[in-house]
Amino acid sequence: MHKLLKQEYGELHWWPAETVDQVILGAILTQNTSWNNVRLAMNNLSKAKLDSIDAIASLPVEEIKKYIKPAGFFNQKSVYLKEICTQIRKEGGISRLEKMSDKDIEAFLIKIKGVGKETMQDIMLYAFKRNVFVVDKYTERLFSRIGIIKPGMKEAHRLGKEIENSMSLEDLNNFHGEIVEISKSICKARPECGVCFLRNNCSYEKDFTEP
Ligand code: SF4
Repeated sequence: MHKLLKQEYGELHWWPAETVDQVILGAILTQNTSWNNVRLAMNNLSKAKLDSIDAIASLPVEEIKKYIKPAGFFNQKSVYLKEICTQIRKEGGISRLEKMSDKDIEAFLIKIKGVGKETMQDIMLYAFKRNVFVVDKYTERLFSRIGIIKPGMKEAHRLGKEIENSMSLEDLNNFHGEIVEISKSICKARPECGVCFLRNNCSYEKDFTEP
């Protein structure tokens, strides 16, 4: 599946950010919104030179809100941004976290307000370059339609662990991006199976769309 996706999409170079700080801020901003909206919010922060952990940790929540409005849920996300940046700074900053074991970074991130499992996985993989497979709703939908798991996030996480133990960091990085790409363009809520390059390997296509 990853081979077919890679053939189609090539190198995706995820995550769309230039610095580790931007990846972390983006991982919070992208919750429940499209990447286009995140981009607008990130542009606001970048123009004001506030796209860093230190800058956000020093900024009052009311100020953060003004810059991140395009990303939606800005009341909530401004608190989450402030919290994660403050906690990272307290812990000694990015350079200290980079030296931690996978287990310790995971434990540190998951207890921060606003950091759920998916956000934690995004940050582990794309900011700290750890071998983590990101499981999101797109992953669960695609995998269950294809027929490699039964529907449900628990199943998706179970398979995610197997994938993460058998893929290189580079492949894990690309694979998540590929899943997002196909889920947004072809395997959408109403899948376009007729034009899908995975259709010969997909149970959904066979079970639901053939006469
Ligand atoms: S064949 Fe249809 S259900 Fe299967 S992956 Fe493609 S779009 Fe999704």
